[in-house]
Formats: sequence, C-alpha cells, structure tokens
Amino acid sequence: MLREDRQSGGESQVIPIGEQETILLIDSDQHSSDQIRTALLESSIGSFPMEWATQLSEGLIRLGKRGIAAVLFDLSLCGGSGIKTFDKLFSIAPEIPIVVLGKAADEALAIEAVKHGAQDYLLSSHHDIYSLARTLRKAIDRAAFAVAQHMEREMAVVTLNSIGDAVLCTDVAGRVTYQNPSAETMTGWTREEATSRPLTEVLRIADGSTRRTAPNPLERAIQENRTVGLTPNCILIRRDGTEFAIEDSAAPIHDRAGCVIGAVIVFHDVSVARAMSIQMTYSAHYDLVTELPNRLLLRDRTSQSIAAASRHNRPIAILFLDLDHFKHINDSLGHAIGDRLLRSVSKRLVALLRASDTVSREGGDEFVILLSDISDRADAATSAQRILIALNEPHHIEGLTLYINGTLGISIYPEDGKDAETLIQCADMAMYQAKEDGRNRFQFFKQELNLKAAERQSIESGLHLALERDEFLLNYQPKVNLNTNRITGIEALIRWQHPVFGVVYPERFISVAEECGLIVRIGHWVMREACRQARAWQNAGLLAIPIAVNVSAVEFKEKAFVKCVQSILSDTDLEPRFLELELTEGVLMKDVESAASKLRELKEMGIRIAVDDFGMGYSSLSYLRKFPIDVLKIDRSFVNQITTLQDDAILASAIIAMGRSLKHCVVAEGVETQQQKIFLQAHHCLEGQGYLFSKPLGATEFAHLLQNGL
Ligand code: C2E
Ligand code: MG
Ligand code: MG
Repeated sequence: MLREDRQSGGESQVIPIGEQETILLIDSDQHSSDQIRTALLESSIGSFPMEWATQLSEGLIRLGKRGIAAVLFDLSLCGGSGIKTFDKLFSIAPEIPIVVLGKAADEALAIEAVKHGAQDYLLSSHHDIYSLARTLRKAIDRAAFAVAQHMEREMAVVTLNSIGDAVLCTDVAGRVTYQNPSAETMTGWTREEATSRPLTEVLRIADGSTRRTAPNPLERAIQENRTVGLTPNCILIRRDGTEFAIEDSAAPIHDRAGCVIGAVIVFHDVSVARAMSIQMTYSAHYDLVTELPNRLLLRDRTSQSIAAASRHNRPIAILFLDLDHFKHINDSLGHAIGDRLLRSVSKRLVALLRASDTVSREGGDEFVILLSDISDRADAATSAQRILIALNEPHHIEGLTLYINGTLGISIYPEDGKDAETLIQCADMAMYQAKEDGRNRFQFFKQELNLKAAERQSIESGLHLALERDEFLLNYQPKVNLNTNRITGIEALIRWQHPVFGVVYPERFISVAEECGLIVRIGHWVMREACRQARAWQNAGLLAIPIAVNVSAVEFKEKAFVKCVQSILSDTDLEPRFLELELTEGVLMKDVESAASKLRELKEMGIRIAVDDFGMGYSSLSYLRKFPIDVLKIDRSFVNQITTLQDDAILASAIIAMGRSLKHCVVAEGVETQQQKIFLQAHHCLEGQGYLFSKPLGATEFAHLLQNGL
C-alpha cells in the first residue's frame, strides 16, 4: 500500500507506508511524554513519529483505528488491577508489539507483562535516547517476523489439510510426529493416536502380490538422506485391514545445520488407477465376450511357439475356425444370444484342447487355435476333426437348442510360413477354400490357394476402377423357340475388358464384386445398358422381345431395388414388359416373404420374372407357388447330360413337367447338340438357349441376328 505525501511546490512524493512507524505512547505523565517524543525523533536509528494517549481507554480507542507500529505503555496505569489491565491492551491488538515502561520498583510487574505477551520492558532509569529507539526497532522487527512466520505456517497447515495427498512425518527415530487429515483417513489412525507411535505400526506397507511387509520408504529416506520412491506395486494396509494400492515418495527433513531430523512421506490411493490399468492390460490381450486371448495375444504366443519349435525342429499348426451361418443366428435371435453361443463354442474348444494350445477369438465368429504340441500334420487333422464333432453337438442357451457348424483351415509351420501373420493368413485362406467346398469340414493350406488369393486381390482392386474406366460391356445371347427356331428373348451377359487379362468372364469376378459390395453399382450399370440397348434396337425397327438381366442376391436385397429398376426403365424409356429379371433359387429362398413381396411389386409393374439355374437349389414347389414366376430356366448341368445320363434325363423331364404344371415357360440352358434339342422337344420344353443356336454376341453382331433370324 502506498501513501501520498503532499510537499510544498505541489510536487508529490510517494513514501511507502511503514517507513514512518508511528508509536503510540500510553502514559499519563506530561514530562515523560515530552522526553520520549524527543528521544524518538532524534534517535540515530531513525525517527519515529509519536502519538500520545494519557489514559488506557483513550489508548485502546486509538489502537482500534490501526496505523500504529508499536505501543509504549506505562505500567503505572495498571493501578490496582495489576496485570489484568495489560491483558486488555494486549488482547485488542495482539499483533502490535508492546514495550512496557516502569519504575525500577515495577520490574516484577514488567517481567509478568512480558510473560503475558509484551515484547520487552524498559525501566525509567534506562530510557535514554539510544536504548528506547533500539528496543522499539527490535520489537517492531520481531513482531513483523512473527507475523510472517505465522502466515507461512498457516498456509502450510491449510494446504496440508486440504490436499488429497496424505502427508505423514516422523522424527529420526521413526516415530510419527504429524499426519494430515488425508493420512488419518488412509492409515485409520487419528493424529493424536498416531503421534509418537512407531511408523511401522501406523503406516503398514506390503507388497501387492506377496502381501509381505515392504521396506518403508521413510526409513530409507532417513538412512540414505535422500528422496526415495516406493517399490512398485505396493499396498497400504489400513488399521481396519482395508488395503489400498498406493504410490508415494519420502524425503528427509533437515534442521538448520543440515542434519536429518526426520522424514516426510507423501502418498495417495491409486487403487482405481491401478485397477484400470490392470483392466486395460487385460482388455488389450483378451476378448471381453469370450474371455479368450485376442488376436494380439495369439500372435504373441504364436511367435513364441515358432521360436521354440524352430529350436526343437518340431512343427506347429494354426487352425482357423469360422462358424457357419453364425450371422443368421445373430440377426434372428439377437446379439445377446449370439454372444452366449460364442461363449459356449469357446468353452467347448478350450475343453477339447491341451493346456499348451491357445484358443483365441479373432473377431466376429472367427477363432484361431494354436497347436504348439503336435508331431505331424495328422495330429492337426485329428484336432480339427474333433473340433468339428464337438461343435456339432447342440448348444442349449436360454431354453433354446441351437445347432452350429464350423469350417476350419489349417496351416503348418514351417512349410506354410515362418511367421505368425503368414501362418494365420494361410489358415484363413484354407478355411475360405473349405467353405467353398461345402462348409462343416477342414482343409489344409495349399500353395495354389496363394495364387488364387493373389488373383482375387488383383481382381478386386481392378474392379474398383473398371466402372470409371468403362471397361465393362454386354454380350447378348438369344432364347429360341425350339419348335419354330424363332428368337423369343435375349439374355444380357456381362464381360470385363481387362487392360491386362483381356476378356474376363463373370464367373471370375461376380463373386468378388458381391463380397466387396461393388456388385450393386455394376448391376445398375448392366440393367441401364441392357435397357438402353433394347430400346435402341426397338427404335431401329428390330424385333421387339424381352431382354433378360441377371440380378445378384446382394443387389436384390437392396431396399431401393424396385425403385431403382423403375427409374432405369423410365430413364431408358423401355416398356416394363420388355424387361426380364433372372434370379437364382438361392436369392428367392434367402428371405421368402420379403422376396415374394418385392417380386409382386415388380410383377405389378409388368416386369417378367425368371428363375435362373433351376434344379441346382432346393426350392420346393410349395415355395415356388408363392412367387409370381414367368420363366423357369433349367440349369445347363442337367441339359448337358440328358442324352447320356439316365438320371439327368429323368430329372430334366420332371422339371419340365413341373414347370409346365405351374404354367411357367420352361427354358433349357446350355443346349449344345441336336440330340439335346430333340430330347427337350419330345418332353415339351418350349424354349432353349445355348451354343447350338448362338454364342453370346456383341451388340452389332446381335443386331444382325435380330434382323435376319437364326
Ligand atoms: P447364367 O445366367 O446361367 O448365364 C448363362 C451362362 O451360360 C453364360 O455364361 C453363357 O455364356 C453360358 N452358356 C450359354 N450357352 C451355353 C452352352 O451351350 N454351353 C455352355 N457351356 N455354356 C453356355 P457367362 O456369360 O460366363 O455367365 C456366367 C454366369 O454369370 C451367368 O450364368 C450369370 O449367373 C452370371 N452373370 C452374367 N452376367 C451377369 C450380370 O450382368 N450380373 C450378374 N449378377 N450376374 C451375371
Ligand atoms: Mg442368367
Ligand atoms: Mg443360368
């Protein structure tokens, strides 16, 4: 704070307060007052302005107004009340130093006053100029120091009481001297109870895993005279037995001479943080649904197994297991049941295998099993076989009986790969192949799968660009009336003009496009192009007949499928009766109700519906009746052998009869020979499609065909 002092000439000079320390003299004697005032003004130490009160009551009022640096009090004012009068004065301003004045005879009372809080006393025989000022100076400085000390202490106490960290101090002998409230809570001892007790009694520290007493860092801080941290993973055992994980450090306390006089330990509860870190380490390595090791831990263990196997020159096996149709269970019964089924499967796997094996969850419905203790491939095959059998047993979950199969791929170290990632990839590829071969089986990895995978990979990346680069085109193959040889319809078949591979046929890329979802965009392109071409031929005055487009399951499943067909028709200006959609049985059987309703919508628009590759699936007649079908296309694998194989001939004729009974137009696919045509005619199959009539042709060639007929 600053005080402004006006000087002559209007200039102002700033003097810090405190430089002028006003002394209050409480003394009834005029003479001694004059003497003291002079002494204070003329002192060599500095001049003290003085205010004078002749009575105690007057002095008390002045003191209450502040601005007084020290008090000089004449003891003779105490009168008959003795030291009590002084107490009154002291209680009004305990922080202001008081020096009492007295006669030689009052020395006993003066000493009493010092005991009650006066800074000092001066007997009348001593108040010469020098000693008076000096005594006051000392009193004022000492009081200021005491205030500063008090503040510092106060701050320390408030801090210690309010911080969350526990603080505990000991002396060199290891006896507790101080605990803050947090330390009281954590040790279970109040400060009073703890004070003077041996540290080891109050602060019981043990190793988190062994529960054995751990070295107390306070003792080490004292012995080694340095700051020490706690050994990791320590716990504190509270007085009532409760345990906390703690983290801390201890430091020695020194006296002014630098000697260790004790130590202080600061610690806090890290139970929550430690539990969290344990949980995090766990979830980084284990799958939370099945509690099996996760992919990370599996790779780690596989790498370790590989190292051991290479030292002992032994094989190991990786089994990649994928559950068949798990998604269906998850979708229809819900994730909760799905998760329980996964747990049931993982229990079975664990029960089946040895302790040295690792069963891990790779994610979704995929499990990877590491067999690190096999002698040869046959051992791996035996394990795979046992897994398939164990999985086939029903799972009882929440009153439901669930059946699930699995498909396994196996890779072997060292033949198939030298590192974990390669082995797992090989096992995955083998599993994929086993799935294609018909699921619920296992398959060893073969090198040619690698080539297949590489090709698939390059097809997939090429497909992403094919649409933009306009690399697709359509070929057209006629459908023919077997009796008249007239063209009755067209099927549009996609081709991919690949910049490197040349013409790529749909068998090689449609399934890849389905898996990566591109089929939807490709399908739209095909339909638009087919409709555009059909309309163009009609505009050119060529034969107006339906054009058939193949629709993939993925495309048909799209919510917007019907709308999409509608907008393509209107964009290309093709009448709906000239568009035919070919769907396989599988597509229709996947979700019968929704398929039936979509087909009805399409049918109402006037579009024709054909069932492609008929006979390959498992559709029953009762199902077929639900769908508004116009055409049944008998799969070419039957037609192929109708003239050579008795069974196929019977089947084909049965299918023809069935289609006719449902009033469907029956078309035979893949008619290559005259004999086949004759057989089909004899069995009243109305139409056929195949090389016998025409191979699929480009648009220009096909236009000729439309113009001139076969
Ligand atoms: P699909 O619908 O059954 O088509 C008939 C397939 O049989 C065509 O093969 C055709 O070239 C072939 N074919 C025709 N006549 C004969 C014959 O006398 N002998 C033999 N051996 N084969 C004959 P492509 O064009 O390779 O198509 C194969 C399959 O790919 C098609 O079978 C169809 O399922 C699918 N596909 C073709 N184009 C598309 C398309 O645009 N979209 C979708 N989603 N699938 C398509
Ligand atoms: Mg077709
Ligand atoms: Mg077909």
